[in-house]
Amino acid sequence: MFDKSTWIKLPRNVLVGHGVLDQLGEAVDELYLSGRPLVVTSPTPNELAGDRVTAQFAADDPATVVVETASFESIERVIDTAEREDAGYLIALGGGKPIDIAKMASDHLNLGFVAVPTAASHDGIVSGRSSIPEGDSRHSVAADPPLAVVADTEILARAPWELTTAGCADIISNYTAVKDWRLANRLKNVEYSEYAGALSELTAEMLVESADSIKKGHEESAWIVVKALVSSGVAMSIASSSRPASGAEHLFSHQLDRIAPGQAIHGHQVGVGSIMTEYLHSGAKGQWSDIRDALASIDAPTTADELGISDELVVEALTTAHTIRDRYTILGDGITEEAAIEVATRTGVI
Ligand SMILES: [Zn+2]
Repeated sequence: MFDKSTWIKLPRNVLVGHGVLDQLGEAVDELYLSGRPLVVTSPTPNELAGDRVTAQFAADDPATVVVETASFESIERVIDTAEREDAGYLIALGGGKPIDIAKMASDHLNLGFVAVPTAASHDGIVSGRSSIPEGDSRHSVAADPPLAVVADTEILARAPWELTTAGCADIISNYTAVKDWRLANRLKNVEYSEYAGALSELTAEMLVESADSIKKGHEESAWIVVKALVSSGVAMSIASSSRPASGAEHLFSHQLDRIAPGQAIHGHQVGVGSIMTEYLHSGAKGQWSDIRDALASIDAPTTADELGISDELVVEALTTAHTIRDRYTILGDGITEEAAIEVATRTGVI
């Protein structure tokens, strides 16, 4: 008997390009949302574009809440403000933090939200996944993706360059994430979507092929990266899982967040993780050096040193990453310290 079913949640309006911020009002109009918008932002993006956002909603008396950290306290504050101000929907303006916070708050409030990213630093800007630090671990939840994404390349191009290279590295890591997903499908019968897997790999391929155009100060870099982040988010939506874009390299990064907090940014950590997990997948003659070269060509770190993390902590993260969550990857039920030192040394990470 056929009893499969699927529910794909995607953003309805996606605007990417030069100056599209001024079309935010129009994009929101088409969503038939009602009531006051609450702009959820952090200090720098608010200074950069807060007025340009609220000016487009002057008739609806917009409210603003500024959050400083990604925490449950911030989510609470946004929820309280939305209730007090009787907000009809949320507009997240900023990098990963305000978007993750607005995503979780809107889920709790049963309100729609719109994402206006000001940095192309990771694929969470489009996806329905959200993650917030909780104690010494991270709390990752499924929430709805934004109803609209308005990504202005003029603004994204002004973000610190390392945020853009982190976004690129997050996309390059799709290669190993999909390998882990297929492995989990073969060994653990985890459901695999050919369509989502292919889209995720194609996204990484297209980014690597455009690596020559990804250069500091070029607005076109922001265009290439943010389109890839959208496409990666769509792959996750199709799969109803972060699997297409998150494998062992992400477990490694989450573990680094715990044992070396604040040392390096997400995308850079997963990039370095990807070099090593590719080695574990395909061996010394495999494609790990292609991943390393792709990262190097866009200025992303390829070594522990460049991440600012000690060799010992890299080895520790590698040997303990499998304990982070119940997600089967090439790390299986853990690799030994000797194996971790071997892979990290052979790939030049340590
Ligand atoms: Zn990521």
